[in-house]
Amino acid sequence: MIEDNYKLRGLRNKLVKKLREKGITNEEVLTAIGKVPRHVFFENALIDHAYQDKAFPIGEGQTISQPYTVAFQSEKLEIKPGDKVLEIGTGSGYQACILLELGAKVYTIEYNRKLYETVKDFLPRLGYRPYFFHGDGSKGLPSKAPFNKIIVTAGAPVVPSALTDQLSEGGILVIPVGDREKQSMLQIRKQGGKLVKKEFANFAFVPLLGEQGWKG
Ligand code: SAM
Repeated sequence: MIEDNYKLRGLRNKLVKKLREKGITNEEVLTAIGKVPRHVFFENALIDHAYQDKAFPIGEGQTISQPYTVAFQSEKLEIKPGDKVLEIGTGSGYQACILLELGAKVYTIEYNRKLYETVKDFLPRLGYRPYFFHGDGSKGLPSKAPFNKIIVTAGAPVVPSALTDQLSEGGILVIPVGDREKQSMLQIRKQGGKLVKKEFANFAFVPLLGEQGWKG
């Protein structure tokens, strides 16, 4: 369902209000959440779930992240228009749309071929055009590095060194790290060649697979 209407826009505004109450303060991020039609990522019968602050299954055992998590990670990335951003875990493509609304140039990589094929066709039909890649994002995207910002939208066992290597000076990596069930969100800033880390409360993502992720 690609159409938008008054009722759906109203639900989106309510979601923005809820995210504000939960502590999201970045106005550009809130505006982006208010603009991107999340319901288009849901089947018609499930559309009532689109503007609840919940993660939701998108097939292939994967999820569209919870709006609060998308807003939180976007805020911690401190996106400036023109930033070159790598997203690891394209999934539904919703987070990529938010990054594009924030004015970033977005490179997004997905491990699951079926999801990659689906999203690569679908997002441009909505008017969103990131650069799509299929492969193991735990190794980053060396052919396009460096990046100002890197966001990982799957839970990692450790911070993959490939990702901090592919971050430019002054750049920020936002990544959930922990065990398979729960992770802390890390905001890692490259400053004077050093990595300065901040850690935020618990999140729960599907596992990051691949060479520097979980096995199997
Ligand atoms: N950002 C997505 C969205 O907006 O819908 C949510 C992503 S979902 C929580 C996590 C995604 O990471 C899944 O689609 C999964 O296939 C993908 N993934 C897992 N390991 C990966 C890897 N090594 N490289 C790229 N993608 C990976």
